[in-house]
Amino acid sequence: MEEKVFIFGHQNPDTDSICSSLVEEYLGHKNGWHSVEARRLGNVNEETQYVLDYLGIEAPALLEEVEEGQGVILIDHNEFNQSVKGIEKAKIWAVTDHHRIANIETGDPLYYTAKPYGCTSTILFEEFKRLGHTIEKKEAILMASAIISDTLLLKSPTTTDYDRKALEELAKIAEIDANEYGLAMLKAGTNLDKFTAEQLICLDAKMLNTKGTKYVIAQVNTVSIEDVLARQEELEKAILAEIEQKGLGMFILAITDILASNSEILVLGDKAEAVEKSFGKKLENHHMFLEGVVSRKKQLLPLIDKNV
Ligand code: MN
Ligand code: MN
Repeated sequence: MEEKVFIFGHQNPDTDSICSSLVEEYLGHKNGWHSVEARRLGNVNEETQYVLDYLGIEAPALLEEVEEGQGVILIDHNEFNQSVKGIEKAKIWAVTDHHRIANIETGDPLYYTAKPYGCTSTILFEEFKRLGHTIEKKEAILMASAIISDTLLLKSPTTTDYDRKALEELAKIAEIDANEYGLAMLKAGTNLDKFTAEQLICLDAKMLNTKGTKYVIAQVNTVSIEDVLARQEELEKAILAEIEQKGLGMFILAITDILASNSEILVLGDKAEAVEKSFGKKLENHHMFLEGVVSRKKQLLPLIDKNV
């Protein structure tokens, strides 16, 4: 029997990580890579669940750890600290990603497809074209959903013309109105009331490791920053516990208003000054408002990482 190769996105998977992993599996099968199978590294969020329900399909199975020599394909990430437990000893067959390249090393040559687009699915969309495969409706819905999620309906500054073009074509194949479908999907992900503070700060948390400082930038989408900030006290308690437990220099929680395209960031930890330096203003009661900031990748991470 052929050995399985697992395809997965980052920890705390978002819609791009789940949808692009599924699409990469379908694309793999079309290319004759029959042993590839999508997996997920954590719980499916509400926004992604909306997509899966829309299609009536199941989420990929959970993958907690890989054995030495396990074949893997990394989607929507490359940094080992955001990947599966055991990744250091896995055999990385391929990476398809749209992030900075850091904290990764491989023992063997590999397929590495990286483009500075707004979404992994935009890269996959171009792969379908390049390889001459027809995009099926299900694949179009998955890729359109990932693009809508990562670019906040093309409003994030990470959006490129390639994303716009891909979404336009995918929406046609998917037979959806991208705005109507997209808003419903994004809104499904903003229902945060049912989560405990501990769960909320981990929903979409990314661990970074820079100059020996480990820190986290977590992000939640909302239609009311006020509602989330009303829980500041319990959120801070959960964040402090996380800092203590993981030995973090800082924890940043970005609360992003997806309709107004702004964020409020809540910051705790010894290195919190790095954030003040990055934005040239002081945290007041541990938080600050950032006008027009919605992208962790483009508007938070590069600035903060420089000042850590
Ligand atoms: Mn992602
Ligand atoms: Mn992505």
